[in-house]
Amino acid sequence: MSPGAAPGPVPPAAFEAAPPGGGPSCLLPPRPAPCTVVIFGASGDLAARMILPALYDLHRHGALPGGLAVVGAARTPWSDEAFREHARRALERAGRLDQDAWAALAPRLFYQPLDYADPGGCAALAARLDELDARLGTGGNRLFYLATPPTVYADLARNLGAAGLARQGRGFSRIVVEKPFGRDLGSARALDAALHEHFAEQQIFRIDHYLAKETVQNILLLRFANAVFEPLWNRRYVESVTCAAMETLGVGHRAGYYEHSGVLRDMFQNHMMQLLALVAMEPPPAFDAEAVRDEKAKVYRALRPFDPDRLDADLVLGQYGPGAAGGAAAPGYRQEPGVAPDSTTPTFAAMRLWVDNWRWQGVPFHLVSGKALREKLTRIVVRFREVPHSLFRHILGEDIGANRLILDIHPGNAVSLAVQAKLPGARLCLQPATMRFDFDAAHAPARALDAYEKVLLDCMLGDQMLFWRQDAVEQCWGFLTPVLERCEACGAQGAPALHGYAAGSWGPAASLETVQGLF
Ligand code: NDP
Repeated sequence: MSPGAAPGPVPPAAFEAAPPGGGPSCLLPPRPAPCTVVIFGASGDLAARMILPALYDLHRHGALPGGLAVVGAARTPWSDEAFREHARRALERAGRLDQDAWAALAPRLFYQPLDYADPGGCAALAARLDELDARLGTGGNRLFYLATPPTVYADLARNLGAAGLARQGRGFSRIVVEKPFGRDLGSARALDAALHEHFAEQQIFRIDHYLAKETVQNILLLRFANAVFEPLWNRRYVESVTCAAMETLGVGHRAGYYEHSGVLRDMFQNHMMQLLALVAMEPPPAFDAEAVRDEKAKVYRALRPFDPDRLDADLVLGQYGPGAAGGAAAPGYRQEPGVAPDSTTPTFAAMRLWVDNWRWQGVPFHLVSGKALREKLTRIVVRFREVPHSLFRHILGEDIGANRLILDIHPGNAVSLAVQAKLPGARLCLQPATMRFDFDAAHAPARALDAYEKVLLDCMLGDQMLFWRQDAVEQCWGFLTPVLERCEACGAQGAPALHGYAAGSWGPAASLETVQGLF
């Protein structure tokens, strides 16, 4: 392509076509306005594995605006062509590459080498963006995606502001921040102050891609678009709630990050707290970003602080040792490349917490997450109380299972209700039965948006519903920071034990009962 030529138009939005029956398509929201997506840290892992493939898939499905530019920005001294080749290879690795779709998207990819800490870098970027606006019709709308290590966020936000790139007027300017949002309450506040030097809260999008998963969004619809659940959704009928996010993979090549993070910062401060809030929140008065985020913040405000001297009562921490995965020997955490041989970083946690409000008083919420576990599983189980008087106890004994509502987020995308039913035959025998609704099977061949596609689209549309608001970030850090401090103060009195578990197992024996509650 010659340097000054404009690339061809992006094909029309296939998703915008009305579905059979004539109603508006519910697969995609309206097409966003023209814009430029700037990916800082464009040479990195997240850009290659998530952001570029998500943009490409949105493009393939006609969901991107007609006027679009994607600008990679990082220190690596690449040309536009080198960045395009990097992106092409990333898509090839992901098994996504379609030559025609790529040929239409590639000319819209550009690269700007830049040192994040150098204000001059953002000034040069601003000039490049102006030039692309004029050439590609991107309307002066800019989305700045910070896919760099978090240590760079504050400098970048300041330099963008100093270069005038945070100003809105001609078009929007939005900044997208990936977790972690700080590593404790103090650093989260410092990061927020740096972001707010030039960006207003409405311009800041703090991503939690978990929230963009189809089933996670379904939790709200299940609860608030169906009348049957609400009367049962409280301490009178619910005995306990368990939210689990289990991974089979170990830390792999991300030890540099994980050693400083551990499971509590990596999973609990963000994803697990979001799952908790979706189950525990009150119905919002309206389905809009602020109303929904208000209700989540109220849940975090109601969390009962841990007793730091009795952490073992409510928290099981673990670290995987050597074991087996997929039939082969798997290393322990301390044998992974980049991990200290005496590391005490937890790779597993099972936490019991309490929401001190009218609805949930006395109902334990169990959050479980870990690496190198037996199965990859993300699931929420709402366990209801047992029947108050069992007519069948004298015939069947005591063992009559309680009803459970099971929300499967991965694998599958399903809601199931476990009930007791009669086993056919002359004798009175009960058997557990499951009523299951499988979203994927019910809606095939409709294609749900992948989580990163959804968050990118929402950023372009300016919809903050699925993003963290700073007050909630601070409330969660306020809840977890005392626990982290106690866990990390070496040999501190009352610090919870670090239990070992074999890679490929279900985690430490001390949390087995909680894990069994998932099945
Ligand atoms: P990387 O470590 O791959 O870094 C991204 C890019 O940032 C690198 O290619 C490099 O580009 C630049 N960079 C790396 N180290 C430094 C440094 N010390 N100082 C300045 N620049 C540096 O990160 P990821 O892509 O894995 O993650 C990006 C962000 O997204 C992080 O905040 C991470 O926590 C978050 N995240 C990542 C996930 C993932 O799956 N990878 C999942 C969820 C969140 P160059 O040298 O060219 O400037």
